[in-house]
Amino acid sequence: MLRISSLSGLGVKIILYDEGIPEELALVEVAGYLGEKLGKVAIELAGSPWHGLALADVSAYAQRMASVKVQQVNSKEVVTAPLYAEIEYEKRRLLGKTRSFGVPYDGFQLVKMLFDLMPAEARGAETINIVFTNRLLATWDSYNKRYHLRTSVYGIPSIISTTGLIEAPARSRDYYLLKQQYEMLGKDLTELNDHFRGSFLDYGDKRLTDVARGYAMQAVFFSLTGQPFCEDKGCKLYNAHWQAEMLYAQLESSYEFCPKHARILQDLASGQQKS
Ligand SMILES: [Zn+2]
Repeated sequence: MLRISSLSGLGVKIILYDEGIPEELALVEVAGYLGEKLGKVAIELAGSPWHGLALADVSAYAQRMASVKVQQVNSKEVVTAPLYAEIEYEKRRLLGKTRSFGVPYDGFQLVKMLFDLMPAEARGAETINIVFTNRLLATWDSYNKRYHLRTSVYGIPSIISTTGLIEAPARSRDYYLLKQQYEMLGKDLTELNDHFRGSFLDYGDKRLTDVARGYAMQAVFFSLTGQPFCEDKGCKLYNAHWQAEMLYAQLESSYEFCPKHARILQDLASGQQKS
């Protein structure tokens, strides 16, 4: 027997956090979209997950953060004693005083760290925690024995990376072939990027908010059903490995969700009881 009632009827609450995200990501719009699709549900914009942390805790978390940085793409080795300068850098970052990025962090370790940070009452099934960050995320692939960049890691909380949406899904093969040629000839890559403009999500891209809506929905589905993804290439829950696939699923497809997921959303929005 399957019973579905509205999310607010189930006491579900969604909390969106953000850390260093670029201004083109409008979380208010992401929240509005979730509200529109999920029906009655409480949605809170909570700001930085590190906000209000005591200074001693900032030091402790900065130390942990520095030790979950991915050192080498083909090694799982972690740094047990990070350098003073690395810890200081992480402290400034936790306090929102610097926005730089580039080094990937182990995505599952980051989830664990954010879980430890959350108050006990926010860790239960009724709260869907989604953290948007500009940190690059990577997860270890034990089959290929290397780290892979990720757009998102789903868990408690789920983390969506704004730089990951740009860097993790691959660009077209033509792009990489030409990039190699450009690099060999020492040519400026700006021209190459101009040529491929629009075919991938880029820094400063106005489409970021629209793309992020679908990823937020993947996080919601992960929390509700344990399964964030869908096989349908036109469904926003599609797990894209290429930029072209991501842009298709999130922006170009003629429908937002496949029939199965559209029905689940409809039932949630209407608070329908099924048996
Ligand atoms: Zn689907």
